[in-house]
Amino acid sequence: MSDHDPSAISEAPRIGLGTDLHRLEAGRPCILGGVHFEDCEVGPAGHSDGDAVLHAICDAMLGAAGLDDLGTLFPDSSQANRDRSSREFLAEATRAVEAKRLRLASLDIVVQCDRPKLAPRRAELREVLASLLGLPVDRVNIKGKTFERTAQREVVAVQAVALLVPRR
Ligand code: MG
Repeated sequence: MSDHDPSAISEAPRIGLGTDLHRLEAGRPCILGGVHFEDCEVGPAGHSDGDAVLHAICDAMLGAAGLDDLGTLFPDSSQANRDRSSREFLAEATRAVEAKRLRLASLDIVVQCDRPKLAPRRAELREVLASLLGLPVDRVNIKGKTFERTAQREVVAVQAVALLVPRR
């Protein structure tokens, strides 16, 4: 077996990293991780609903599967993607991953923003994401961090790592 024998690694898990950054603007609905933060006065600006958490998850999954990224699959130049729910992007990314005979096994996410505060709704976020992704809750983690008000503009920044395993 040579080091370049593809069968030697075909069953190995695959890891992917996804990041996203959106400006937070007044008057936009604040939807992050599929959860609506009704009391937040700012929300992520974007061509779709701006859900930076779901966008980062998509890119982590697509990256692990060796596929094109979200911006390539769903260009913001397309009118069809305007104000689209990012839940639809996540469903498409899941289908693309499954078509490669892979499935998501675990996910870890860091969300950085000064508002909204994620901690009070962290359990709900984990449950919503687990349900959207068809995973047990303990396979999905999400943590909030602030910028300590050091950011020049108000933004939400997300990092996600996804582990994919071969689908049996
Ligand atoms: Mg985005």
